[in-house]
Amino acid sequence: MVDKAERSRGIIVAAQGNLMTVRFEGVVRQNEVVYVKSAGLSLKGEVIEISGNEAKIQVFEPTKGVRYGDEVEFDSDLLTVELGPGLLKRVFDGLQNPLEDIAEQSGYFLPRGVYLDPLPRDTKWKWTPLAQVGATVEKAHFLGWVPEENVEHKIMVPFNFIGKGTVKEIAPEGEYTVDQEIAKIEDEKGNIHSVKMMQRWPAKFPLRFGERLLPKEQLTTSMRVIDGPFPVAKGGTFCTPGPFGAGKTVLQHQVSKYAKTQIVVIVACGERAGEVVEILREFPHLDDPQTGGKLMDRTSIICNTSSMPVAARESSVYMGVTIAEYYRQMGVDCLLLADSTSRWAQALREMSGRLEEIPGEEAFPAYLSTRISELYERAGIIKLYDGKEGSLTIGGSVSPAGGNFEEPVTLSTLAVVGCFLALSRQRSDARRYPAIDPLISWSKYNDRFAEHGDNFMKDRVKKIAFAQNMVLRSDEIGKKMSVVGEEGIAIEDLVVYLKGEFYDAVYLQQNAFDPVDTATDMERQNEQLEMVSKVLEKEYSFEDKEKAREYFLSLTDKVIQLNYLSKDVSIYDQKKEEILNIIEGV
Ligand code: ADP
Ligand code: MG
Repeated sequence: MVDKAERSRGIIVAAQGNLMTVRFEGVVRQNEVVYVKSAGLSLKGEVIEISGNEAKIQVFEPTKGVRYGDEVEFDSDLLTVELGPGLLKRVFDGLQNPLEDIAEQSGYFLPRGVYLDPLPRDTKWKWTPLAQVGATVEKAHFLGWVPEENVEHKIMVPFNFIGKGTVKEIAPEGEYTVDQEIAKIEDEKGNIHSVKMMQRWPAKFPLRFGERLLPKEQLTTSMRVIDGPFPVAKGGTFCTPGPFGAGKTVLQHQVSKYAKTQIVVIVACGERAGEVVEILREFPHLDDPQTGGKLMDRTSIICNTSSMPVAARESSVYMGVTIAEYYRQMGVDCLLLADSTSRWAQALREMSGRLEEIPGEEAFPAYLSTRISELYERAGIIKLYDGKEGSLTIGGSVSPAGGNFEEPVTLSTLAVVGCFLALSRQRSDARRYPAIDPLISWSKYNDRFAEHGDNFMKDRVKKIAFAQNMVLRSDEIGKKMSVVGEEGIAIEDLVVYLKGEFYDAVYLQQNAFDPVDTATDMERQNEQLEMVSKVLEKEYSFEDKEKAREYFLSLTDKVIQLNYLSKDVSIYDQKKEEILNIIEGV
């Protein structure tokens, strides 16, 4: 780090909204943090373009009152994230200001030019050393740990430590704050480094140390339509595009609660201010079915509204990913949910527009797809130096205008994610929830699970494929029927149509508000699939179309009732037996 006195300085010579031109002396680098000194305030910003002795900077806050000739101080550091115990159970803004602290002082959002410590400085953490004096260590090796909620929070050798080091001193078991020294490490040149529990990392660089492994294990979510036809992989990526009101938020809550990951990072990116406040109000009250506590206890939230300057919106996504990567480096399974990446992409577009870059499609910058793929690239499984694994799964929602998926953000996202869970207006209008459309959604992971899984998994994937095929045929027949009427089709076709509708109603649809149906564990999902497959594979011969309809209507009704029954109640087995008899009996 450069000494304060050596930092470069400059003055504002032009301004266009939050984009300012600064004439400077000294050395300035791309993405360096700057502070604009204006009217007694110090406004944070970032260098985005340098040419000659002029730099374009974007200020993260409203720039009202900034004047030509105002002084700018270059910080020499890139935009960094503060990492250490105290990230969970908290809400930050896009500059990592803790929002609860702000709420106490000034409502939800900060006055300009005020920056708070991201990690609490006065909290004492119960430290247990893991490394011994004399041990040889490298960056990201564990020095010790502190308990933080449900995580054994590892304190690691700083990520910018170069080469091998020797532990010279290590603090004994005890209680320490994040900025107390817990170790001294000597590097290969004989320099001694003082190590604290907290460290920093530039948000826009992937934080990843260790071998990258291919995701091949399923990340179950308790939602049948995901875990069945469109599964997500642990360490993989998915996206959920959908129009307003289609169920993106409900889906996000369900996935946060039930996905088998230890921690969740939510990036609430630039939706309307009301929606962000809603997240701040709702999320802390959600119960965590996995721990019995509150979901918030193992969650970190980064919040921005579209009323905040674009630069802060752009950075919030990177802030969130970096936090999740940090926990992955401890061997934790992490989930990052970004809602919505469209708002983030709009921030990129606005900035690009102001820079007068050559626009690509729909005025998005030409590098939009690169940025999107770089973001999802940060997901993955890492094999740590001690042989254990950590994972980061990334899911992003996309909110295309009018639900039209043929637009740059959706298309660029589609090109990089492993799983596409498309919420459709048609399904949400028909109250077929979750509104994930079985006709256009897909997952690349099914084949991989089948390949790496046991015979049971292979059979499961086969059953799902059979059912999906039925849905497609059913849809075609349904369309035909809407033209020629039921009389116009053969009874065999009507049965295929009814089978598809049956599978949709009892398996793909799931009621998030029913206490039992809301979450289905894999054991029960397998049982349900078994039952559904019996129906789909059966060769029926009905006397007439009326009988066929009656049969499927009543069967659907019974199976849904079974879905709502807890397996603990005594009548469960009896009801299930009844249904199986009906299926066998015809
Ligand atoms: P979005 O975030 O896409 O605007 P929401 O997630 O707020 O939409 O969903 C809108 C409404 O749809 C919810 O208030 C709820 O009534 C209904 N809904 C969404 N998903 C489900 C579900 N899985 N089960 C039952 N109802 C749902
Ligand atoms: Mg929503």
